[in-house]
Amino acid sequence: TLPILIHSYLYRKAAAKELPTLLLLGPSGAGKSALLTLFANGIASATHTSQEPQSAVCQLPASTTTSEDRYRSENDTSSRAQPKFLLLDTPGHGKLRHHATSTLTSAAALKGLLFMVDSAAVSSASGLTEAAEYLHDVLLLLQRRHTQGKTSKGPQAVPVLVLANKQDVFTSLPSTIVKTKLEEEIGKLRQTRSKGLLDSGIGMDDDASGDEEGNWLGEYGAKEFRFAQMQEHDIEIDVMGGNVKGDGDEAGKVDEWWSWIGEGL
Ligand code: GDP
Repeated sequence: TLPILIHSYLYRKAAAKELPTLLLLGPSGAGKSALLTLFANGIASATHTSQEPQSAVCQLPASTTTSEDRYRSENDTSSRAQPKFLLLDTPGHGKLRHHATSTLTSAAALKGLLFMVDSAAVSSASGLTEAAEYLHDVLLLLQRRHTQGKTSKGPQAVPVLVLANKQDVFTSLPSTIVKTKLEEEIGKLRQTRSKGLLDSGIGMDDDASGDEEGNWLGEYGAKEFRFAQMQEHDIEIDVMGGNVKGDGDEAGKVDEWWSWIGEGL
């Protein structure tokens, strides 16, 4: 099996260089491994191992249209391979998140972020806080990446899809509610994190305000947080529901997610 391992490693390295990359993030238990396995199915080169896969080369299903299709003439009947991409899973555990954040700042071919949440878990206060804190930190990284890149040739904009997973579960919140709950919670978080500084007057004068503003996600000073505020930093955020696993024998529902990915490739 050693040659296979080496081959798989080299393949992964090569693939990582060339293929557009999507980073999969989110609290543990959200369904990331399950998604990776599902998306990697049907393509022989997926990096399946005896353990949970960490990354996989995925290919859009034939039914999913891509951004390229828009530029194809209706008379163009030539067959074209569906695009492939590399999906990188990142451990959801807090201590391991630096892996996720280092990929965020280093991956050159980063085409987007998939942030997965368990739509039933976010109905509890602790589940919501965990997801919101993680998402807040990820978005702040993207915001900084954008702010710092402004002077030189800026980094490519990275869109974010929040996958409101487990819609098959009875206690799950619909994606629209998942969205507003996350926005509310991120808004509160933003407020509490900056409150200490504002109360003490630090950050109110011109010298220090740069830092304070740099730590504030979205529209500076706004009372409420909305994902739309991130557009100012070139960050488009969509929230779409679905489920990796079906109810019993039923298949999952991931079409909307595929379409989003297809649009961005
Ligand atoms: P990860 O920690 O984010 O990688 O989460 P996993 O992929 O290990 O999934 C956690 C648990 O949720 C597993 O038991 C999965 O089978 C289950 N799961 C994942 N997606 C779904 C879904 O859409 N619906 C249901 N009902 N369960 C799911």
